[in-house]
Amino acid sequence: MAATLLDGTKIAAEIRAEVAAEVRSLLESGLRPGLAVVLAGNNPASEIYVRGKVKSSEEVGIYSEKHTPPHATTTRELLDLVEQLNARDDIDGILVQLPLPPQVDSKQVLMAVDPAKDVDGFHPMNVGFLSTQRPGLVPCTPGGIMEILRRSNIPVAGQEAVVVGRSDIVGKPMAMLLLNSNATVTVCHSKTRDLPAVCRRADILVAAIGRAGMIGRDFVRPGATVIDVGMNKITDRAEFDRFFKGNDKREQAFAKNGSTLIGDVDPAVFEIAGAFTPVPGGVGPLTIAMLMANTVRAAKLRRGSAISVA
Ligand code: NAP
Repeated sequence: MAATLLDGTKIAAEIRAEVAAEVRSLLESGLRPGLAVVLAGNNPASEIYVRGKVKSSEEVGIYSEKHTPPHATTTRELLDLVEQLNARDDIDGILVQLPLPPQVDSKQVLMAVDPAKDVDGFHPMNVGFLSTQRPGLVPCTPGGIMEILRRSNIPVAGQEAVVVGRSDIVGKPMAMLLLNSNATVTVCHSKTRDLPAVCRRADILVAAIGRAGMIGRDFVRPGATVIDVGMNKITDRAEFDRFFKGNDKREQAFAKNGSTLIGDVDPAVFEIAGAFTPVPGGVGPLTIAMLMANTVRAAKLRRGSAISVA
């Protein structure tokens, strides 16, 4: 049977529409959720991400503002900015775009964000809330993956889940969310022995590694759900051929741009998987949609109301 493609673009659009409806109803009660994005310096990739976040906020009706301290900014200046944003009632979410310039103590700046406004869910207080199953703010990418599973009716409780990658941003919170949903979870990393064998146990396999096409067919039990978080750029022709030879659409894009995007999963896996997220168009679109959902959630949590947004 052909694998089910888990369409992240479609699911993200559903979530954004729900968030927009939620924002409209909050507006009726006189509350407009607000998001402040801090973009220090001029990292081109960060500028693109932040533009996407601001645009998406406008589309769903969230007030947003961008703060752009110069590249030479200091830890003290950023701490002062975060403090001002913490104190403002019209700002519900604060997002400090990483990486910060090298002279800045990023951990200190992230720790200064009020946990109630920490829409990235990186603050240790929110990490603790997640691990003790209390209401809090959950990191956007793993939160989005749970939405993909839930909205695609993929069962999680009682399933074997294997997460490859243990970063604070993706792997660890992913494992915790799956555990909280009653999966039996194994977390793998670069020191895991016989990774393919461990991965083959998975009913749900999440790859968050950052290595182009590393998860091959021998890592996947036929019929498993495969979630590909990786976003890797291929520019090398031989590497392109290894994964995409004969794929006309990719060929055209590669010829035009000199590169193509690939996840951590070899596309050959999708022939044996039960369901999979493509790259692009899988997990990626969920991240910004969940940031919008988190901003509304923060606005409501701060005011002590019940949460209905994902
Ligand atoms: P990261 O902080 O670099 O973590 C990578 C993890 O993979 C580490 O835990 C590392 O193990 C593990 N790893 C590396 N090589 C391995 C190997 N050969 N075998 C087994 N495990 C290995 O990366 P991240 O921030 O979690 O991101 C992972 C990927 O997801 C990247 O491609 C990133 O671009 C992508 N991403 C996508 C989105 C999205 O919106 N779609 C969001 C965030 C990240 P150790 O801990 O032992 O070093």
